[in-house]
Amino acid sequence: MKIISGKELAAKLKKNMAKDVSTYMARFGRLPKLSVILVGEDPGSVSYVTGKAKACQEVGILNNTIRFTDTITEAELLKKIEELNSDNTVDGILVQLPLPKHINESRIIEAIEKNKDVDGFHPLNVAALWNKNDCILPCTPKGIIKLLKSENIEIKGKNTVVIGRSNIVGLPVGKLLLDENATVTITHSRTQNLPQVASEADILVVAIGKPKFVTPDFVKQGAVVIDVGVNRDIETGKLCGDVDFEACAEKTSFITKVPGGVGPMTICCLIENTLECFLKHL
Ligand code: NAP
Repeated sequence: MKIISGKELAAKLKKNMAKDVSTYMARFGRLPKLSVILVGEDPGSVSYVTGKAKACQEVGILNNTIRFTDTITEAELLKKIEELNSDNTVDGILVQLPLPKHINESRIIEAIEKNKDVDGFHPLNVAALWNKNDCILPCTPKGIIKLLKSENIEIKGKNTVVIGRSNIVGLPVGKLLLDENATVTITHSRTQNLPQVASEADILVVAIGKPKFVTPDFVKQGAVVIDVGVNRDIETGKLCGDVDFEACAEKTSFITKVPGGVGPMTICCLIENTLECFLKHL
């Protein structure tokens, strides 16, 4: 069994990006810039946004975090997005989710200029992904494929099972695996006999948001297990994944850990997307 370290891969990729970025000022006369909007004080969201700002610093790109209290109206938020859309010095715009209930998230995501949508959540980017057209890939699914490839794990022809069908993880990761010529089963809360379905997977990707949900009976001997979940362990209060790592690890050939697995790759791909947007806008 080998633990695939997203932390190490992300550090390596960020170092390479930093090297490229160090030439940008001389070549292009300006640096890429990511603008992040944070509404409210949710500790999880604050911590994600801090991580994103830190990654921008590491790679040497510009970042500004625009903070609003959770009393901001939808109209005010839309106005700010419009400003950022028309600001030529801003290459990437990200609105940290979730937003307060009185704000319509879909309307906000749709308002972001498609070519600055570094999260890859805009409906036109999603449509382009499913139509196999040029698009900005969503960060977490993109990071998962990079993790698999970094270990030379064969995806083509493999039986892959994704647990979870959210728009931001389960569905797009299923699509990217399909594009790599895997056979893909996407499962969800109504799937019958889930442990049995999962235990047929050569590659199992879990994104449900339930601490230690996946137990050894979900895992085929020698399977690759990618744990996307970020949860608090009910007993210890520590961060943990959707997979019971201690119980499942020895059955796997490769497994990711939480923290230090998919999470750092998501941020790394966010920075990569920002650089791609910058280069396209030149
Ligand atoms: P989500 O939108 O809440 O979707 C959860 C999915 O899990 C749904 O499709 C749901 O099925 C399915 N599900 C829930 N309970 C289930 C059960 N008992 N059996 C089978 N399927 C079940 O969650 P998400 O946004 O995809 O996030 C999932 C997890 O990944 C969370 O812990 C989140 O924090 C984490 N995450 C991590 C990163 C990262 O970078 N590491 C990025 C994004 C998300 P239905 O569709 O039938 O309801």
